[in-house]
Amino acid sequence: MHKKSKLQKKGRICNVHGCKNILSVYNPGDCCYIHQQSDTPATPHRIATE
Ligand SMILES: [Zn+2]
Repeated sequence: MHKKSKLQKKGRICNVHGCKNILSVYNPGDCCYIHQQSDTPATPHRIATE
């Protein structure tokens, strides 16, 4: 079984009032990446080197 990462429900919308950003299935939170307030700073562009 390939269940490495748990995907979230598809088509969820940001929990912030007025925000209509659709959350990624990889986003475990309730808010879009813009409204997510976490301890870790937003990751800058990830450079694919492989
Ligand atoms: Zn949002």
